[in-house]
Amino acid sequence: AVLGQIKAMEPELNSYVTIDEEGALKQAEEIQKRIESGELTGPLAGVPAAVKDNICIEGLKTTCSSKILSDFVPTYTAKAVENLKQAGAVIIGKTNMDEFAMGSTTETSAFGVTRNPWNPEHVPGGSSGGSCAAVAAAECFFALGSDTGGSIRQPASFCGVTGLKPTYGTISRYGLIAYGSSLDQIGPVAKDVTDCAAILEVLASHDEKDSTSVQREDHEFTKYLTGEVKGLKVGIPADYMGKGLDPEVKEAVLKAAKVLEEKGAVVETFGLGMVEYAIPAYYVIASAEASSNLSRFDGVKYGYRAKEYTGLHGMYKKSRSEGFGPEVKRRIMLGSFVLSSGYYDAYYLKALKTKALIKKAFDEAFSKYDVILGPAAPTTAPRLGESLSDPLKMYLGDIYTISVNLAGLPGLCVPFGTDQKGLPIGVQLIADCFQEKNILRAGFAVE
Ligand code: GLN
Repeated sequence: AVLGQIKAMEPELNSYVTIDEEGALKQAEEIQKRIESGELTGPLAGVPAAVKDNICIEGLKTTCSSKILSDFVPTYTAKAVENLKQAGAVIIGKTNMDEFAMGSTTETSAFGVTRNPWNPEHVPGGSSGGSCAAVAAAECFFALGSDTGGSIRQPASFCGVTGLKPTYGTISRYGLIAYGSSLDQIGPVAKDVTDCAAILEVLASHDEKDSTSVQREDHEFTKYLTGEVKGLKVGIPADYMGKGLDPEVKEAVLKAAKVLEEKGAVVETFGLGMVEYAIPAYYVIASAEASSNLSRFDGVKYGYRAKEYTGLHGMYKKSRSEGFGPEVKRRIMLGSFVLSSGYYDAYYLKALKTKALIKKAFDEAFSKYDVILGPAAPTTAPRLGESLSDPLKMYLGDIYTISVNLAGLPGLCVPFGTDQKGLPIGVQLIADCFQEKNILRAGFAVE
């Protein structure tokens, strides 16, 4: 049924970069046998899933939606995918994304834009736009995304699906092609909070191949889905509700607050602080790490190499010039600049200090509240082509999501109604590190 839906929807949506029909049917057959023999049980057994194209699967093309990796076939599988396979999920294919996960619309993909299933004139968000569109259009039952600065939560909001970015270290990054390593987390995109919690139970595991992987004891995330939020302390940052926020999105957040209040939660508005520094700090840190991570793509070890060049440096230069798209080049230049010896203290170090202060602001907030409630994005999905011409404006759209990555916190985006144009609105729930239970509890009560 899912392959049929893909055939029907893909000509319009382009959610996938690679569809592995043959492999999926083979996996399904094997899984069917394991289910019948009683060896395989559990909620993901036989469930068709998609994987963002920056997460490696052995033998299946992994492109990061970039020309430079257009023929790259990994020889190993990401731990997160390994866990899904163990649980019996059927991997259908790889989803489209902004090139190297840099962008907020999926328009920077080298393989064409993905369209929003709610209205194909609009973007699906990004960078996990393919994963979110695929789930919204029933081209899979759930998908993996990655979130460095909102790339699961923002497209989830634009596509009317549920997306979870867990606490940094919860899901192994082994096999995730790095963008900003200190910020990157894999997470589930699914139809609802219950599915997200069940998938997280499978994905969360310690992995010695990722030195930042955490050994968590609390693996039963579904047990918090009771609908009970009595006494839960919820804070709405006043700094998230002011200038720049679309009135319809604001209304949705206030309505979600009302739902929680009616169910017995205690909701309050408070001043979070540091919000205006999140975007500059994020774009300095993320670009710095990106410029370092992307230095491995030189035309030698991986992927694309220019056809004609003179000398070794000429080969690097031409391969990279031809292989990377404009947004990726912008990040590499910005990152190399802020890391260069004359500017390191002024930009990179300052951004790290800002990051520490942002974490402190959240620590203070979580001494008073169990959950922070706010918007996931300032607007609903923009029209195709609106954001590409103005990168600064696009960066400003990340205002509510990126501080969560800077502070390493878990964040959940839950669909909550639509705007007048019929486009989905998502609300975001944020908790302290390792307190996914609070946002899952609140999210389940709100959806
Ligand atoms: N808009 C963010 C960026 O371009 C999204 C990053 C992400 O989470 N992958 O950096």
